[in-house]
Amino acid sequence: MRKEPPRGEELAVAAPHCYCGRLAWLQTSWTESNSLRRFFVCPKSEVGGKTIVVFFVWIDIEMPPHERALVAWLLRTMREVEDQIRCARAREKKLWIALFISWAFVFIVWFDNVM
Ligand SMILES: [Zn+2]
Repeated sequence: MRKEPPRGEELAVAAPHCYCGRLAWLQTSWTESNSLRRFFVCPKSEVGGKTIVVFFVWIDIEMPPHERALVAWLLRTMREVEDQIRCARAREKKLWIALFISWAFVFIVWFDNVM
């Protein structure tokens, strides 16, 4: 039996217009209280570094508290793992440099003894 390929997320809601006439942008919330909840917002919400929200509409319904807590925990864990990976990569880079320097030193000493 053939498996159907996975489909992308379909957005059944057409983007509304803001009161200023601009087409609203689809965004995803990454806050702990509304993780992964999508909303429409006016693209002109940020004026001179200040956030002035004139138009804002949630698309997704609010998650039940236990799901919200689970998603928040998953996101926190993901950020922790990303931090650990970043630290490990920085440490790996330092170790490669130390290895290169030590081999260069070994080569210089060996070359000095041969000559
Ligand atoms: Zn607007």
